[in-house]
Amino acid sequence: MIRNIAITGGTHGNELTGVYLVKKWQNEPDLLKRSNFETITKLTNERAIKEVRRYVDHDLNRSFGLADLSKDTLDTHEAKLAKTLNDELGKKGSDDPKVDFIVDLHTTTANMGLSIVVSNASTMTWRAIAYLCKMEPLLKVYRWQGDVENSFVDSMAPHGFAIEVGAVPQGVLRADLFVQTEALIYHLLDYVEKENHGDDLELASTLEIYDHETLVDYPRNEEGDIVAMVHQERQDRDFTLIKKGDPLFLTLGNKTLAYEGEPRYTLFINEAAYYEKGFAMTLAKKKTVEIAIK
Ligand SMILES: [Zn+2]
Repeated sequence: MIRNIAITGGTHGNELTGVYLVKKWQNEPDLLKRSNFETITKLTNERAIKEVRRYVDHDLNRSFGLADLSKDTLDTHEAKLAKTLNDELGKKGSDDPKVDFIVDLHTTTANMGLSIVVSNASTMTWRAIAYLCKMEPLLKVYRWQGDVENSFVDSMAPHGFAIEVGAVPQGVLRADLFVQTEALIYHLLDYVEKENHGDDLELASTLEIYDHETLVDYPRNEEGDIVAMVHQERQDRDFTLIKKGDPLFLTLGNKTLAYEGEPRYTLFINEAAYYEKGFAMTLAKKKTVEIAIK
């Protein structure tokens, strides 16, 4: 039984879809009302939102590691914020968390379409995702395992995931992606209502997902500066296969650098925020996951 769900936006202050969806729902809370659970909305990083920047000191969406949350000496803006949010929505790992399900709203400059990024392995999380895929066949699912521990915002609750939509520039609202994200949230609330009610959801027994394998960094010089761009033939081709010999990067001197590895799917291609994280795209394999039948 899900008692409540939190919809969070503005974890990255320059990703406006989530910011303005949360503002919309705070003005019109009836849109989120369902019969058998409560929905909370929250703008997570208000200072970053005001400044229209990703973060103030560091990435809030990597600030929910258990060790960091328990360290009193961490006093950056986002470290303090993570502890406050964890008191309000967590606590992470607790037997009696304040919130059962968190969905964190993001956008990306990569051509990811409508996608879910999941790190949480709970049965309920996967059933929710299976329901959303049934209602929205264009939805794609990426299981992220690029960090040692899941330290995303949604990791504060026992169930949850992030929604990523793109391509949209930072600091920009796009109506089509706004409407798609909004519709996905209403499907999620319907799912929770039906699940709580014990309805037969007629979910597929398996789901095809993209399973994170590795990160691909830009070619760099000895100073660490990039010396090539994502190749124009790879740009925007998120969730498509790359094979050995396919163009991957174009150097500043117009030389094509080819992909050398095994066939993989490329995701988050040329995401603006990942230049500083040191990757140009991620590589994933297709995988089938089992959906638990109730
Ligand atoms: Zn984001």
